[in-house]
Amino acid sequence: MSGPESTTPSADSVPVTALKGVGPTMAERLSRLEILTVQDLLFHLPLRYQDRTRVVPLGALRAGMAATVQGEVQYSEIKFGRRRMLLCTLSDGTGILVLRFFHFGGAQKAALTKGRRLRCFGEVRQGVNTLEMVHPEYRSLEPSDEAPPVEPYLTPVYRTTEGVHQQTLRSLVTQALSLMERDGIREWLPEEVRLEFDLPSLREALRFLHRPPPDASLERLEAGDHPARRRLAFEELLAHHLSLRKLRATMQRHPAPPFDGDGDLRQRFLSRLPFSLTAAQRRVAEEIGRDLARPHPMQRLVQGDVGSGKTVVAVLAALQAVENGFQAAVMAPTELLAEQHYANFRQWLTPLGLEVAWLSGQLKPAERKEVLVRLADGSARLAVGTHALFQEAVRFHRLGLVIIDEQHRFGVHQRLALREKGSGEDGHPHQLIMTATPIPRTLAMTAYADLDVSVIDELPPGRTPVTTVVVPDSRREEVIERVGRACREGRQAYWVCTLVEESEVLTAQAAEDTAALLAGKLPDLTVGLIHGRMKPQEREPVMRAFKAGEIDLLVATTVIEVGVDVPNASLMIIENPERLGLAQLHQLRGRVGRGSHESSCVLMYHGALSEAAHQRLAVLRESCDGFVIAQRDLELRGPGELLGTRQTGMLRFRIADLQRDRGLLAGVARAAARILADHPRHVAPLVERWIGERSQYGGV
Ligand code: ADP
Ligand code: MG
Repeated sequence: MSGPESTTPSADSVPVTALKGVGPTMAERLSRLEILTVQDLLFHLPLRYQDRTRVVPLGALRAGMAATVQGEVQYSEIKFGRRRMLLCTLSDGTGILVLRFFHFGGAQKAALTKGRRLRCFGEVRQGVNTLEMVHPEYRSLEPSDEAPPVEPYLTPVYRTTEGVHQQTLRSLVTQALSLMERDGIREWLPEEVRLEFDLPSLREALRFLHRPPPDASLERLEAGDHPARRRLAFEELLAHHLSLRKLRATMQRHPAPPFDGDGDLRQRFLSRLPFSLTAAQRRVAEEIGRDLARPHPMQRLVQGDVGSGKTVVAVLAALQAVENGFQAAVMAPTELLAEQHYANFRQWLTPLGLEVAWLSGQLKPAERKEVLVRLADGSARLAVGTHALFQEAVRFHRLGLVIIDEQHRFGVHQRLALREKGSGEDGHPHQLIMTATPIPRTLAMTAYADLDVSVIDELPPGRTPVTTVVVPDSRREEVIERVGRACREGRQAYWVCTLVEESEVLTAQAAEDTAALLAGKLPDLTVGLIHGRMKPQEREPVMRAFKAGEIDLLVATTVIEVGVDVPNASLMIIENPERLGLAQLHQLRGRVGRGSHESSCVLMYHGALSEAAHQRLAVLRESCDGFVIAQRDLELRGPGELLGTRQTGMLRFRIADLQRDRGLLAGVARAAARILADHPRHVAPLVERWIGERSQYGGV
């Protein structure tokens, strides 16, 4: 028996080439399924199952079911129609079934003649007059074979790849299972954890999933909510969680400069602000302040809904670094957002005598050189920019704090690379990450287990909630009227064109057409246009004019999603909102409702909406709370959309599925804490098993 204490070889460490029939060619093919070891083979779970454990009487067959049947050939004929085919009628005394073959040779014809007894497996479908099977698997039964045995287990169906057939995989898994039964497989979940969460042992779970007994519920198995699959998903999620915790612990051992400054700059900044901080801003600023005063790198994520005032909190953190003679860098994912931050930081910090540098990919070489000099000699105390900030050539004099806005667009690897950047004799820089995409708590615990999380859960006072309506675009004229009215009353409006067929060119074109159309229909208004294909130098004057109130109606693509702040804008029209996720729509909508005027958002959809799309848009009509919306988005669309999984990379699981397994997440976090405290020796093997070399970043 193998357990955590065992040192004997176990199935998990054996390469697939140890199995019969696996030479270099097969090993190469298996590697395309990410199967390198016997353990990988065991973790290659069936996609679905077939029930070949019993022979179904022909009279009991229903269209749609896959079944094993048995009977005598009554009649067999070749039909010549548009396609030549072999039809064969089977009977067992309870009913009849037609077998239909389009491809057949002489041997088949012989095997399927009248009087032969057959055992078949296939999917039953409704034929013209009877039920039938098209190209069933079949074999002839000898007269002596009264009741040949059926399969003792449900038959697994695996994901295959070219050159690796279903049968091959089945027989390899059979070998893997007997290796596991002989040598065991290491169990890294402590008994008490398994008991608490009611999880079978790894060996039991794998045996069950590859060889479910005839009475196992196919439905539960295929829905993936069987305890055996949950057990594996739990362990995988646990491993991910532990790897992030490990990463965090590793970071915590690095030194970082403690910022215990006198608070003078922060005081001067606050006293010049035209408003006082909300309680939530104060609380989060204090949490950050405490982190920064410690001699280890802060790794904190600040979540705050659009408009909750994250920028001010970021400025306070930056000033704490500057008070201590260090530099702070603020990075945003898009030019436009970075520009907006640059404008804010400069406006707030220039009066305090601080120089703010601007670095983007768009700078001319001479400008860039100048900026690099001022960052390197320390005369620029703050830097704002896009990821251009973190290219090779950029050297800071003394970088103490990195602030990343809109985290969900940066992947975990970029986050890690940034930690490296700027680490020098003073240790690693502190890191503050800000996101406006509220992430439900359990999901945050999984995706960001390497970070501390603060939440700004309060909006500044005086915001008017945005009224949202959902209308078909057949009411476009009415909507245009409404825009005209709002602007004539002195308000401003956005008209947002969403992505067309994933094409920036088409989208820009649509925005241009819309702007021209609206300018024609509303000749007394000034219409501006902004889209992703314009250069920052072209966009900036438009944004400035809109901010200054010189433009009444701004037609835009979703480039205005983040950061734009024009309190006088009180109306937003979003075309084809059904193309966007809820979180993104919520972000867009956050551009209005920033001033004291009644604000509204019109979601103008095109054509007939699906029931699901209706439901999604209704969420926005009913709630303005980013957390509520995120939770609904998670339920309706899954976590990938919410986190931008494509970029985060780390959230690729072999067995777990964040959507399906979200109920496990809270337990996973608890189990992780338990294992770290009481079974620290299990941590490395768990991470190794599920993440392997991908956990290299744990060594950062
Ligand atoms: P976000 O969290 O979306 O980045 P911002 O930092 O851009 O929000 O803040 C949105 C607007 O609210 C800005 O105009 C900002 O100056 C203002 N603001 C921030 N904090 C407060 C506050 N405590 N009281 C009033 N207005 C505030
Ligand atoms: Mg912001």
